[in-house]
Amino acid sequence: MPSVTPDPSTSETSDALVLGRRIRERRMELGMTLDHLAKSVDRAPSQLSAIENGKREPHLPLLRAIAAALGASLDELLSDEAPSERAALEIAVERAQRGPVFQALGLQPIRVSKTASDEVLKAILGLHQEVERVHRERAATPEEARRANTELRAEMRALNNYYPDLERVARELLERVGYTDGPVSQRTVSGIAEQLGFSLHYVSGMPHSTRSVIDRRNGRIYLSSTLPSRDARAPILRALAGIVCGHEEPKSYGDFLRQRVESNYLAGAVLLPERSTLRTLQEAKAARDISMEDLRDAYAVSYEMAAHRFTNLATSHLDLEVHFTKVHESGTLIKAYENDGVRFPSDALGNLEGAMICRNWTARTIFAQPDRFNPWYQYTDMASGGTYWCTSRVEKAKEGLYSVSAGVRFEDVKWFRGRDTPHRTASQCPDDRCCRMASPELTEKWRDLAWPEAATPTSLLAALPTGAFPGVDNHEVFAFLEAHERAATNIP
Ligand SMILES: [Zn+2]
Repeated sequence: MPSVTPDPSTSETSDALVLGRRIRERRMELGMTLDHLAKSVDRAPSQLSAIENGKREPHLPLLRAIAAALGASLDELLSDEAPSERAALEIAVERAQRGPVFQALGLQPIRVSKTASDEVLKAILGLHQEVERVHRERAATPEEARRANTELRAEMRALNNYYPDLERVARELLERVGYTDGPVSQRTVSGIAEQLGFSLHYVSGMPHSTRSVIDRRNGRIYLSSTLPSRDARAPILRALAGIVCGHEEPKSYGDFLRQRVESNYLAGAVLLPERSTLRTLQEAKAARDISMEDLRDAYAVSYEMAAHRFTNLATSHLDLEVHFTKVHESGTLIKAYENDGVRFPSDALGNLEGAMICRNWTARTIFAQPDRFNPWYQYTDMASGGTYWCTSRVEKAKEGLYSVSAGVRFEDVKWFRGRDTPHRTASQCPDDRCCRMASPELTEKWRDLAWPEAATPTSLLAALPTGAFPGVDNHEVFAFLEAHERAATNIP
């Protein structure tokens, strides 16, 4: 999709268009030919024509000469008003044809001539404006993505984030390689890949924006040789998930999101196998000592995977309703799930991703804690009703720091380690006075003296990624596979 970034030359061009029209209009009023005007300012007629068509802007000395020849003042010629309604219409069509949206379509512009009726020009202008509006809207809100996301969240909530089919697939994969109990080793995961007919290849120079690439032709899975965690289990399983879940090329953004959710779920369900993990959690619950850290350590997975896996099993098997968030250090919500009634901020369409989380919530207060290595627990009194208890942890990623949090209602905290925390805050959000507005004293002091420049978040301007696998460059992926196949089969 072509970009609709405003072209810096547009405003200049439109001024030149108005100026040209004003010169032509004035010349016609005087019954003067183009040749005549050109001669009296000592220029070629083609040059004058370019000026009248707004294709060139005259320098001040020439403009003065033109004004004198036409018996007009500079101010009259430089007025930014079109000389007539018809001229305004012609200018608007010209401007639209010179704009980036029309240019990107690669169509031949029409010549705006005297013979074109007002109706024709108005219809053309209307179409231009509509095309521009649609482009703007699509670039600003990846509508389809938002809708698909909201639907998927509703489904997850209805299932208490527990997918029996995926649990069964995970169990079968593990059984086939002889797994019985406890944590799942790298060797077990390689065994699963082998069982499915794939060999693993760690290479440098993976195509951009890919986590892994599967070569189904040769039965190979490519993974980056510089995996940050040096733990390839989750990436391998996410890659294999597409095969075992029978994922086809996604037909819509909704398909793409669902496949992603399933891949992540399956990776979690294999690395924290249901029966074993449940036993760990039930023992912890009996001891009133449930801890995300313990789960993470017992299965050697990331905190995020442990906390997320906890949400899969909490309601369906432990009778606990929970919430989960992943929040960027800027305060932006990246991932969220709840069935315990906690009220996440959202936009008018019910979309949560990208919303700002209250500064007083655990997911944000943790960033201010000097000790990032100990678990952080906090009670939060919500304006919308109720008190929630959360545990949170900061993890580092390429894009910065993230907090991952899991929590429950006050009445369920009795099962968790960390319930004796002295930390307690109150959140009045979405009331602006809670944490969005500065204090009256600071506002008074700085209101007129602060001039921040906003760093434009890329997501704000980026249109919905296009292509079969959104955001992935097929050109690069195919070239990558071709090169590796050639290397493997010794084709020069
Ligand atoms: Zn707040």
